[in-house]
Amino acid sequence: MTHVLDGNAVSDRIRSNLQTAIDHLRDSGVTPGLTTVLMSEDDASRTYVSMKQQACEDIGIDGRTRRLDAEQPAEDLFDLVKELNARADVHGILVQMPVPDHVDKRRVFRSVDPMKDVDGFHPENVGRLVAGNARYKPCTPHGIQKLLESAGVDTAGKEAVVVGRSDIVGKPMANLLIQKAPGGNATTTLCHSQTENLTEKTRQADLVIAAAGYPELIDGSMLSEGTTVIDVGINHVDADNEKGYKLVGDVAYESAKQKADVITPVPGGVGPMTITMLLYNTVKAASLQTETPVDLPWVGLPSVGGARDADKAVFAGGDFGNTLSRMRSGKESFLLWFLAYPV
Ligand code: NAD
Repeated sequence: MTHVLDGNAVSDRIRSNLQTAIDHLRDSGVTPGLTTVLMSEDDASRTYVSMKQQACEDIGIDGRTRRLDAEQPAEDLFDLVKELNARADVHGILVQMPVPDHVDKRRVFRSVDPMKDVDGFHPENVGRLVAGNARYKPCTPHGIQKLLESAGVDTAGKEAVVVGRSDIVGKPMANLLIQKAPGGNATTTLCHSQTENLTEKTRQADLVIAAAGYPELIDGSMLSEGTTVIDVGINHVDADNEKGYKLVGDVAYESAKQKADVITPVPGGVGPMTITMLLYNTVKAASLQTETPVDLPWVGLPSVGGARDADKAVFAGGDFGNTLSRMRSGKESFLLWFLAYPV
């Protein structure tokens, strides 16, 4: 039977573990702080920012939003980022994308202090990720790794196909999958809009991660039996309902489910994980910047025997319930883990 990955359940589990870390930080006089900068009138961006703010409030992170008009000069944005870089109570800074056309997106990435870059988009953090020494993994790919871990999907030695090469999802996802580390060790193919014969690639895959922003691009006929299918896409398509639209992924869910062993739904799959991993990175940022060690139960896969050695680590097989119960029993030093095994 196909295992439908419940992103909300995994996300709740990670958030409750993070809560412990946040409580500990606060007991030590540190309130993790995340400031989101919004320079857009775009409805989707505003919704994402308010969801992030709410998630921070719910868990005890000092979440703030700074708004700029879309018409303001680019320098206003860079001045604001400079101010936030200098503030000790702001541990994480996120500039909501997209920014207006007159603002250089790459300069935005470069302007955020790399220690506060909880999106993981600063060139220093991108370089660290590629080099296998990540400080902050980009939230969506990191959330996908956690989802795979939660289902006991071992990526080592598998054929993985990532569809989409954006800086936010596709490229960092492929970079994580090729690392000699837990959640990596996959033989990875990165497909994009110029890829010829996509079906040939996806049919050979044990793991397909669809992040093309193209409704139902991947259907069951493009998959082999037993594939793990992760659907990142969020697409609005016209529908005969009150709203006049519905959300669909980049995967044709019903037909793909006939072939897949493991699959994520849209909504309720990858989506909830993205904000959770932003909270995770913010807690990590606060811990690193204040040199305050925090203990929390294992938020990813539990250690299996001596699974602290990244090269020897094995992913747990078995059902999700067993995985969760092992997660509950593991207590690790968050800071030590961060330092020794950057996640
Ligand atoms: P993007 O538009 O920046 O990149 C899309 C990529 O897909 C491009 O690299 C392009 O080359 C490739 N592509 C497009 N059409 C293709 C095709 N027919 N065949 C092969 N490759 C093709 O998009 P993005 O920011 O990476 O987002 C991708 C999707 O994921 C969007 O639907 C977005 O809304 C969604 N998304 C979801 C989350 C989440 O938390 N669930 C987070 C980020 C993005």
